[in-house]
Formats: sequence, structure tokens, C-alpha cells
Amino acid sequence: MMYTVEKANLISEQLRRFTTGYAHHVAGQFANIEFWLHEVQESIKTIDEYNKRFNNIRDEQKKWIDAHGTVVYDYCSICGEKCELSEGNGNPPPPVRASSNELKAVRKELIDSTYFFLLRCYRMRLLTKNMLEIKCEEIGTSIDPSDLEK
Ligand SMILES: [Zn+2]
Repeated sequence: MMYTVEKANLISEQLRRFTTGYAHHVAGQFANIEFWLHEVQESIKTIDEYNKRFNNIRDEQKKWIDAHGTVVYDYCSICGEKCELSEGNGNPPPPVRASSNELKAVRKELIDSTYFFLLRCYRMRLLTKNMLEIKCEEIGTSIDPSDLEK
């Protein structure tokens, strides 16, 4: 799986586990809240800069192929192997861009799982409402007032 997606999913999964864990585990993880929020912010940035990195890769790859006349061999109908006589030989295909819908979904999942972890910390009175607001802002989201009533 792609690095950008895998990284975000790994952090989401971790935060979901914290959210549903025993209170004493949540309290323990809360001690590292700044670390985790930093991880989340870095991962959001990694997602948001994906297209820029992808374009760099695509452009540099094309430059190299053009400059070196790089050819990849296709399967040959005579010998059945990848072979220089195959008619399908040609320039290598460009890299495949990740779907923006997938990236959007992974980004939302990451923010949601962070939000629910913060909410659990708030309900356990590890965070004041004001601190909860600030931390939500740090990850680009806001509190749904109905979540505070439960
Ligand atoms: Zn052949």
C-alpha cells in the first residue's frame, strides 16, 4: 500500500485503540498527547502534499526516460518471455497517481479518530473544554456541541 495512506491508517488505528481502551490506558497515552498530535499533523501534511510529490516523481521520471531512451520489454509471442524482439516494447508507463477520493477518506478518518480520542480525554476530565477546542483546531476540526452532552 502507498506510504501516504499506510502512515495515516497506522496513526488512525493507534488512536482508535487508545479511544476504546481502559481508562488507565487512556490516561497513560494522554501523557504523550503532544507527540500524537504532532504525528497527526505530519500525516495530514503528508496527505496534503501528495500531489506535489507525485508530480515531482512523474516529471523526473519522464526527464530520465527522455534523456536515456529507456525502454521496457514486453512479453514476446515467440519465446513467451520478456524479450527485446517483442512488439509491445516501448517507453515505461508513467507512475499511477493515488485516487483523490481515497486520500480524502483516509484524511477524514485520521481527523475523526483523533477527534474521538480527544473527546474521550475530555470526558475523563484530562482536557478542559478550552483545551479540547485548541487541540481540535490544531488538527483542523471543531467540536460538535452535541458530542459534549453525551
Ligand atoms: Zn522472444
